[in-house]
Amino acid sequence: MLHLNGLGKRFGDQWILRDLNLQVREGECVALLGPSGCGKSTALRLIAGLERQDEGSIELDGARLDTIPAERRRIAMVFQSYALFPHLSVRENLNLGLKIRGVAPAQRQQRINSVLDTVRLREMAVRRPQQLSGGQRQRVALARALLRDPRVYLLDEPMSNLDAQLRDELRPELRQLILQGSQPVVYVTHDQQEAMALANRIAVLKGGCIEQIGTPEELYKTPASCFVASFIGRPQ
Ligand code: ATP
Ligand code: MG
Repeated sequence: MLHLNGLGKRFGDQWILRDLNLQVREGECVALLGPSGCGKSTALRLIAGLERQDEGSIELDGARLDTIPAERRRIAMVFQSYALFPHLSVRENLNLGLKIRGVAPAQRQQRINSVLDTVRLREMAVRRPQQLSGGQRQRVALARALLRDPRVYLLDEPMSNLDAQLRDELRPELRQLILQGSQPVVYVTHDQQEAMALANRIAVLKGGCIEQIGTPEELYKTPASCFVASFIGRPQ
């Protein structure tokens, strides 16, 4: 269980996140949904340890996570830009992380083949990123996250660079990856359709605070405010 306890973050004298409370169970996907600038990426960056919170704490399985250095948290973050090395093939991109972590060569190839099958990119392994479509690049980024065998998945608008057709294509695959995992997943998006399709629960953020949290159905049927209703796409 990932547990955010009263998280607060400010830049200068401006509070970007305020009293963020959230629990995400193993195998559960919670979407953080909200407009640009409401603090979604900042929340992920705090969990990943790329920023330090000013208030509150983060726990994983009952132990403090926020006191552990970022590189030892075993958290996989997928960004909207794929952050792949352009001069390396798909296989080499995937190999690099395992090599850095000291995994033996034979074991590396076996694990890479297995995740390439999962994201259906086995036949693309020798290509470089620029020889792939946006959706395929994003699948490499997902494969890299899977290879890390992380304790938590953080996905920051992983499909926002893709056109509508590719998003439709990738959505069931992403859902499959999320369902087969047994880790907490936090999925950031400003696309309500994506949140409704992929998340078990949705937290609607407004100005750094959670406006409402619930299942997609709860938010759709009983929105707590006009803001939530407009975001979930139900006219009031
Ligand atoms: P988007 O949907 O556009 O990605 P977001 O919800 O992810 O938006 P954040 O990136 O978390 O938003 O940013 C929240 C607010 O914090 C914004 O107003 C942003 O300008 C501000 N902010 C983020 N990082 C910094 C920083 N390092 N210094 C100062 N302000 C920052
Ligand atoms: Mg963001």
